[in-house]
Amino acid sequence: MFDLRTRDIQYISGVGPNRAKLLKNELHIESVYDLLHYFPYKYIDRSRVYSIAEIDGNMPYIQLMGEILSFETIGEGRHSRLVGHFSDKTGVVDLVWFQGAKWILQTYKLHEPYIIFGKPSVFSGRINVPHPDIDKANDLTLSQMGLQPYYNTTERMKSHGLKSAVLSKIIQNALESLQSPFEETLANNILAENFLMGSDEAMRVIHAPHHPEKLRRAQYRLKFEELFYLQLNILRYVKNRQTKFRGTQIHKVGDKFNDFYENNLPFRLTNAQQRAIKDVYRDMCSGRQMNRLLQGDVGSGKTLVALMCMLIAVGNGYQACMMAPTEILAQQHLETLRGQLFGMNVRVEILTGSVKGNKREETITALQLGEIDILIGTHAVLEDSVNFAHLGMVVIDEQHRFGVAQRARLWSKSDNPPHVLVMTATPIPRTLAMTVYGDLDVSVIDELPPGRKPIQTVLQFDTQRSSLYITIRRQIESGRQVYVVFPLIEESEKSDLRNLEQGYQELRSAFSDYRVSKVHGKMKAKEKDAEMQRFISGQTQILVATTVIEVGVNVPNASVMVIMNAERFGLAQLHQLRGRVGRGSEQSLCVLVASYKLSKETKQRLNIMVETNDGFEIAEADLKLRGPGDLEGTQQSGVAFDLKIANVVQDSQLMQHTREVASKVLQEDPKENDPKYAKMWQELQNLRKTNVNWSAIS
Ligand code: ADP
Ligand code: MG
Repeated sequence: MFDLRTRDIQYISGVGPNRAKLLKNELHIESVYDLLHYFPYKYIDRSRVYSIAEIDGNMPYIQLMGEILSFETIGEGRHSRLVGHFSDKTGVVDLVWFQGAKWILQTYKLHEPYIIFGKPSVFSGRINVPHPDIDKANDLTLSQMGLQPYYNTTERMKSHGLKSAVLSKIIQNALESLQSPFEETLANNILAENFLMGSDEAMRVIHAPHHPEKLRRAQYRLKFEELFYLQLNILRYVKNRQTKFRGTQIHKVGDKFNDFYENNLPFRLTNAQQRAIKDVYRDMCSGRQMNRLLQGDVGSGKTLVALMCMLIAVGNGYQACMMAPTEILAQQHLETLRGQLFGMNVRVEILTGSVKGNKREETITALQLGEIDILIGTHAVLEDSVNFAHLGMVVIDEQHRFGVAQRARLWSKSDNPPHVLVMTATPIPRTLAMTVYGDLDVSVIDELPPGRKPIQTVLQFDTQRSSLYITIRRQIESGRQVYVVFPLIEESEKSDLRNLEQGYQELRSAFSDYRVSKVHGKMKAKEKDAEMQRFISGQTQILVATTVIEVGVNVPNASVMVIMNAERFGLAQLHQLRGRVGRGSEQSLCVLVASYKLSKETKQRLNIMVETNDGFEIAEADLKLRGPGDLEGTQQSGVAFDLKIANVVQDSQLMQHTREVASKVLQEDPKENDPKYAKMWQELQNLRKTNVNWSAIS
C-alpha cells in the first residue's frame, strides 16, 4: 500500500509543479494526504431549485432552472457587460458577465434548458445574477449536484486561478486516482460501537456530499477521529508518566504546616483554598507523582495555597521550589513568603538572573546541601548548575509562560521527580482544559477572599482625555495610585514604544505636581526593578507601563487601572490587567480607553469587560469571539490546536466522549499490542511524526 502522506500532489491531474508550489506555500499542502485533509469550510445546497417569482436580492446562493431568452451587450469597451435575460416562466432575471463575453456567447445557446447557480442581487430595480455557474439541465440530475463544497483559498491562490471550485476539482481527481480505498484508521469495534461511517466513505462524502444527512455523518466521523487521537495522545502521555515516575510519598502534613496554621496564618482560608490544599495533600500521599493545575481568578489567593503546600513538603524533609515568570514577581513572592513565615524556622532564598557572583555561589551550594527549604526563582532555576539535595515539590506560578518541556526539565533536578503544582489565573473553559491542560488534574478556586469590592469598569473614548485626567487626579488626591498601561505588540514595537513614551510625557506634564514611573519590557532588569520599587513604595503616584505588570504584581494601594488602546488587547489579557487593582479595601476602578471608531464587534467585546468581573464568563466569551488559537496559553502548551475539522468550542461534548473512548482503549490494551488496535497505535505514531505540536508531548 502506497503512503498518501509521502505522495507528492504534483502528479495529480490539474496540479503540476506550479500549483503544487502554490498549495505548499499558501496552505502547507504537500502530500495527497494533506490535500484530502483540507476540508471545505461550508456547503451550499444545490438540490433545491427556486422559481424566479420567489427570489429577491437578499438571498444567499440559489439555483434556478430555465432558459436564456436573449443576450444583450450593455456599455462600451472595457466597461461593457454581457447580459443574458433568463426566464423560467414565473419571471425574468439578468445573468451578468463583466468578462469573457465571447466565450459565453459561443458556449451557451438560447432556449436550451439550463440550471444556473449564483448569488442574486438587485441592480437598477432588476434582479441580477453576476457570473453564474451554468449546467445543461439534461446533463445533470439535480440530486447528483447535491451540496457544493467551498474551500478557503488565499488571495494569491485566487490570482493564480486556484479558486474553490478548481480546488474541489483537484480533490476529486485525487480521490479518483486512489488505487485502493482510503485507509481505515479506527478499529472495527470502535467504528461499530460509535456508529461511525467508514474512513473511505467519509472522505468522499466530505468533499462531495449529496445529502445533508450523509454529510453530517461524515463530519461526525472525521471529527471523532481527530479528537479521539488527540485524547489518546494526551491520556497515553499521562499514563506513561505515571508508570515511569513514582512521586515522593508523604504520610503526614508535618509540623511546619501545623505550626504555620496555628501561629502564622494571616487570614481565615476560604473554603475554596481549603479544598485546593486538600486536593494537593491527597495527591502527595498517593505514591504517584502529582501534576495538578490550580486555577483561580486573579486575587483569589493562590500564593497562600502554594505556600501551605510547600510547607507540607518542607515538614516532610523535602525542599520546595516556586517558579515565577518574571524577576519582579519572584522578588515579590520572596518578600510575601518571608513575611508570612516570620518567626518560623524555614529558610527562603531567591535565585534569578540578577543574583550573581558570591551570592549566587552561596545560594547554589546551600541548595545542594539541603540548607535552603524554599527556593524562589525564575527560569534561572532551570540551569544545569542548579541542583537540589531533595526536591519534593515545585510550584509554577502563572503557567502560561511555561511550556510542557520546561516543566519536564524540572523533574531531572532530583532523584525522584517532584510533585508539580501549576497555578494559573487564566480561567480555562472546560473544553480547553481537556486539551491544553489535558495531562493535569485540576483544582479550582472559585471564590474570592471576603470583603473585596467588585472592580468598577468603564469604557471611555480617547477623545475624552480631559475627563480621564480629572478621574485620575481625583483618585490620586484621595491617596490612591494609578496604573496606565499601553499595548506593546512585537510587530509594531517601535510605534508602540513611541506611543508609550508620548503618553508618559503627556502624563508628566498633566500631573507635574506628582511623580510618574515608567516600565517596559525593553528596559534593563535593574532599571525596571528600580522604577517598579519606586511605585510599590509609594514614591510615585502613576506607573506608566506595558504589559510587563500584567502578571502577579501586588500593590494594594494602586486602585486605578487605565488601559490605553484597550481594543488591541484580548479579553483574557484585559481581565488579567484589571486584576492588578481591587486588592485593597477601597473601591477600585478600571478605565478602558479605546478609539472612537470601534467596530461593532470590538465594542461588544469591550462591553463584556464592563458588564462582568467573572473570569470564566470572560474566558468563554473570548473563546467564542476569537477562537482557541489566539487564547493566551495555547501557543506554548504543546498540544495540537491546528484541528482540521473539529472545534473545541462547538464539539465539546464529542471531545468528552472521545476522551472516554480513548481511556477505554488504553485500559483494554495497556501494552499496546492487541492486534485489533494495531492500526490505531500505528496511526498515533504517524500523527506524532507529522504533527509538530503532538510530538512536543512524549
Ligand atoms: P492570586 O491568586 O492572584 O495569586 P494572591 O495570592 O496574590 O492572589 O492573593 C491576593 C491577595 O489576597 C493577597 O493580598 C493575599 O494576601 C490576600 N488573601 C489571600 N488569601 C486570603 C484570605 N483567605 N482572606 C483574605 N485575604 C486573602
Ligand atoms: Mg499570583
